[in-house]
Amino acid sequence: MDTLDFDLFVIGAGSGGVRAARISAGYGARVAVAEERYVGGTCVNVGCVPKKLFVHAAHYSEDFHDAAGFGWALGAAAFDWPRLRDNKDREIARLNGIYRNLLDSKGVTLTGGWAGVLDAHWVAVGEWHLRVRHILIATGAWPFVPDFPGREHVITSNEAFHLERLPRRAVVVGGGYIAVEFAGILNGLGVETALLYRGPLFLRHFDRDLRETLAEEMPKKGVTLRFDTTVQAVEKRPDGSLELQLGDGSRLQTDLVLYATGRRPLVQDLGLEACGVGLREDGSIVVDDYYQSAVPSIHAIGDVIGGPELTPLATAQGMALASTLFLGDKRSVSLENLPTAIFSQPAVGTVGLSEEQARARYPAVLVYRTRFRPLKHTLSGNPEQTFMKLVVDGESDRVLGVHMVGPEAGEIVQGMAVALQAGATKRVFDATLGIHPTSAEEFVTLREPVR
Ligand code: NDP
Repeated sequence: MDTLDFDLFVIGAGSGGVRAARISAGYGARVAVAEERYVGGTCVNVGCVPKKLFVHAAHYSEDFHDAAGFGWALGAAAFDWPRLRDNKDREIARLNGIYRNLLDSKGVTLTGGWAGVLDAHWVAVGEWHLRVRHILIATGAWPFVPDFPGREHVITSNEAFHLERLPRRAVVVGGGYIAVEFAGILNGLGVETALLYRGPLFLRHFDRDLRETLAEEMPKKGVTLRFDTTVQAVEKRPDGSLELQLGDGSRLQTDLVLYATGRRPLVQDLGLEACGVGLREDGSIVVDDYYQSAVPSIHAIGDVIGGPELTPLATAQGMALASTLFLGDKRSVSLENLPTAIFSQPAVGTVGLSEEQARARYPAVLVYRTRFRPLKHTLSGNPEQTFMKLVVDGESDRVLGVHMVGPEAGEIVQGMAVALQAGATKRVFDATLGIHPTSAEEFVTLREPVR
C-alpha cells in the first residue's frame, strides 16, 4: 500500500470509538474519528451520564420524606424541571469538550459529518475520500420502536432528556434497563407513572429473585406496574393527552408515552454489506473474538456488534483492539463476570451468574439470601427492603454470582466484581471481616445456604 492518510479511521465518537482512537494514537498510530451527531455518543449525551443525574434528582423526593424521621422539618418541596434539564445540558456540554480535548491531546483528527466505507481501505467523509489501513465501526445503536398505529405520538429515551415540560402522567413501555430506570426517574420527579411490560415479569435476563424484589419495591414508591400488558394503538386526543388501546381491550389515558423496547445497531448507509462485512438479521456486525469483521481491515466494537450494550464493555473492547492492531498483542474482552447495575429505585447491582444460569451449568448450586430493612429506614419509616444473594458452586465453593437490590447496589457490587474476577470462594467471603454497620457486610456474613 503506498500513501496512507491514516492508520486507523474510526466511525463513531462514542465511548468505544473514542477510547480505541486515543489509545491507538498513544501507540503511535495516525488516527481520525468521524462523528456526525455528538461527541461522547449515547452514554454521555442521552444515556448513562444524564440518566444518572436524573436518578439523583428523582431520589430527592424520597430523601426529603425520609428526613422527617431524623428530626428534619422541611417546607413544601417544589421541583423545577427546566432548571434540572438545563443544568444537565451544561454539564453534558462540558463533557463534550473534555472528550474533544482527549482526542486533540493525542493528535487524533476529529471530523464532523457523515462517513461511510467505500471498500476495505477507503472511506468517504463528506466529499473527501481517504485511504486508511484499518477501519473501526463504533456507531452504537439507536432506540427501536415497534410499528403500531399512533407510533408517531410516543417518545424514546433520546427525547426524554430534552422534554420541554414534565407531564402530569406518563406511561413507560418495556421491561428492560431503560424502562425500569425511567419509570423510577419520572415517578421520583412527581409524574404519575405506569410501566407496561408484555411479559409476566420484567428484566427477563436477570436473576428471578432480583426481578421479584424490584417488582415488590417499585410500587411502594408509587410506580404502577402492569405486566402481561401490550399496546395496540396510541391516539392523540383534542386536549393533547394520549389514549392507549391495550391488548385486553381496555384503554388508558396519559400525557406522555415513552417506549423503551430495545435498541438496534446503527449501520444504515455505512456501505458495509457492499464491501463484504457480514451483518446479522438485527443489523449487528459479525466479528470474531478480536473484533475483526469478514473484511480483515474492518473492525467493530460496542453496541454495533450486538451482545451486552454496556459502556465499560465498549471501552474495554476499544483498548483491546488498539493493543491488537498497534502493539501486536492480540487481546479480547471476556464476558464472564460482567458486572452491571440498573439505576432503578431501589437500584439493582449484579455480577456473574443468576441462580437460573448457575443451576443450568453446575450440578450442586448453593444459594444464600437475605432480605432486611436497612438501618436508615428504621428511623425514616421508609418501607424499602434490601435484598442480597450469593450463588455458589457447591463443589468448588467458588462464588458464581452476586446480586443485590437496594441503595448503592451498583457501588457495592462493583467491589464484589473484583472478588469474582479473582475467583473468590465462599470461604474467602466468610474469612472477610465486615464493615459495621453497613448493608454490604451482609455479603460476608451469609451462612445458611439453600440447595
Ligand atoms: P432492553 O433490551 O434492556 O429491554 C428491552 C425491553 O423491551 C424488554 O423488556 C423487551 O421485552 C421489550 N420489548 C422488545 N421488543 C418489544 C416489542 N416489540 N413490544 C414490546 N416490548 C418489547 O432494552 P432497553 O431499551 O431497556 O435498553 C437498551 C440497552 O441499553 C440495554 O439492554 C442495556 O444493555 C443498555 N442500558 C444499560 C444501562 C445500564 O447499564 N444501567 C441503562 C440503560 C440502558 P422481552 O424481555 O419480553 O423481550
